[in-house]
Amino acid sequence: MTKFDLILGGKKVGAEQYADVLNPATNEVVGQAAVATPEHLDQAVQAANAAFATYSRLDDAALRDNCNKVADVIEAHAEELAKLVTLEQGKPLDGLGSRFEVGGAVAWARHASSLSLEPEVVQDDNEGRVVVYQKPVGVIGSITPWNWPLLTAIWHLMPAIRSGNTAIIKPSPYTPLSTLRLIELIDSVLPDGVVNCVTGGGEIGGAMSRHEGIAKIVFTGSSATGSKIMSGASETIKRLTLELGGNDAGIVLPDCDAKQIAEGLFWGAFINNGQTCAALKRLYVHDAIYDDVCRELTAFAKGIVVGNGMDAGTHLGPIQNRMQYDKVVELVEDAKAQGGRVLLGGDADGAGGGLFYPVTLIADVANGVRLVDEEQFGPVLPIIRFSDIDEVIADANDNPNGLGGSVWTGDLEYGRSLARRLECGTAWINNHGPVRPDVPFGGVKRSGLGVEFGKWGLSEYTDLQVING
Ligand code: NAD
Repeated sequence: MTKFDLILGGKKVGAEQYADVLNPATNEVVGQAAVATPEHLDQAVQAANAAFATYSRLDDAALRDNCNKVADVIEAHAEELAKLVTLEQGKPLDGLGSRFEVGGAVAWARHASSLSLEPEVVQDDNEGRVVVYQKPVGVIGSITPWNWPLLTAIWHLMPAIRSGNTAIIKPSPYTPLSTLRLIELIDSVLPDGVVNCVTGGGEIGGAMSRHEGIAKIVFTGSSATGSKIMSGASETIKRLTLELGGNDAGIVLPDCDAKQIAEGLFWGAFINNGQTCAALKRLYVHDAIYDDVCRELTAFAKGIVVGNGMDAGTHLGPIQNRMQYDKVVELVEDAKAQGGRVLLGGDADGAGGGLFYPVTLIADVANGVRLVDEEQFGPVLPIIRFSDIDEVIADANDNPNGLGGSVWTGDLEYGRSLARRLECGTAWINNHGPVRPDVPFGGVKRSGLGVEFGKWGLSEYTDLQVING
C-alpha cells in the first residue's frame, strides 16, 4: 500500500498514524495519507515563515519563472496526477473529469506567470511623489474541499507563488493523496518551505485559522465551515478569501429550443456529478416549454453512463463520500414526499459496493421544498415551472447563496438585462459554470468573501503599501 507523507520545509515527513483513503467507486483503499498533528502544523508554519524571508524578496522575473516551473512539473506528471484524482475522488478520467482537471491546473499555473504586480504611480510632480505597491502578506493557509481537489489547490497556491508569499495547504481528508503528490512535485521545483502540505480535518483546519504565524486563509468549502473559519481568523485579523456553497438558479425563457439547450443544461447541472460549487442546482423553466425541456433533458440524460471513473466510456462516477450520498438520498426522498414527479432515476441502488447514485431529474417542485432551497451537491436536478418573469427572478434570489446563475434565451440583450437582476457573483447566458483564469470568480451573500482569479484575485494575496515622498 502506497504511503503518502507530509511535505514540510522541503522534506517528506512521515507521521505516527496513517489514514486509509477510499475509492468511492469500489470502497477499496487507494493509499494511506500521513495524519498531521498540531506539531506538524507548527513545523509547517515555521518552515513557511523562514522561506518567506527570502522568497518575498525575489524579483518579479523569478516569481513569474516559478509559475512556469509549476506548470511544467504538473504537465510532466499529468497522467499520474489524473489517475490519483480519479481513484480517490471518483470522477472519470475523460470528459469533464480528472484529465480536464489537471489540464485546468496547468492552464491556471501558466496564466499566473502573466499577471502583473506593477506599482502604481498616483502622483509624480513638483508637489511630490506617491506610489502604491502591492506587497506579499506572509504565509497563506489554504484549506480545500474534495470535489476538485487538484484544481482548487492550484487556484489557491498560484497567486501565492506569483506574489512572493509562501503557503501551507490542507486538503480534505477524503481526497488528500493527489494534493500530497502535487505539493511534493511543486516543492521539487521551488525553494524549500515555499509550499508545505499538512493533512487532517476540522481540527487542523481550525488550528490554521487561529494560528499566529499564518497571515491569510484562502478557503473553498461549505458556508458552515467558512463561518467557523471566519470566527477563528478574527483574533489575529487574518485576511480571508472564502469560496463557499452555491445554489445556482438557471432560468429558461420560452423562446428557447428545448432540444438545442438540453446538453448545455445537463452539463451545467451534472458536471462532476453535481459536486461543483457553481453547478446549476435549480432549473426554472417557463410554462410554455416546460414539458419540452423536461422531455429533452430526460432524453439526453438517459444516454449518460454512470460507473467506475477508471473505465473508458464512463461519463459520471460515484458520489465522493457517504455523508454526501446520504444527503442526496434524503433530499430526493423528501422531494418525492412533497409531490415531486420523478422523470429519471430517484432510487438509490449502491451497485457494486460503490457510492453510485443514478442521474435524477425531479419535476413539479417549487421553492419551499428542501431540494430547491438547499444545496444538493449531487446528481439530482429539481425542475420548477414558472410563468411570470418578476416572480421567477424573486424566487431565484430567494436564497442565502449567491454564487452563480444563468439565463437561457435566444434574445441575448434581454437575457443580459435579466442576468443583471440575479443576486450572484457570475451570471452566464445560455451556459452555466465555465470559469477563466483572467476573470474574477466569487460569490455574493453567504457564498463567500472576495474573489479568485485574474488581477482581482491576485490582489487579495497582497497588502497595499503607499510610499509617499
Ligand atoms: P467542508 O466545508 O466540509 O470542508 C472543506 C475543507 O474544510 C476540508 O478540508 C475540511 O477538512 C475543512 N474543515 C472542516 N471543518 C473545518 C473547520 N472547523 N475549520 C477549518 N477547516 C475545516 O466542504 P466540503 O464538503 O469538502 O465541500 C463541499 C462544499 O464546498 C459545498 O458546499 C460546495 O458548494 C463548496 N464549494 C464551494 C466552492 C466555491 O468556489 N464557492 C468550490 C467548491 C466547493
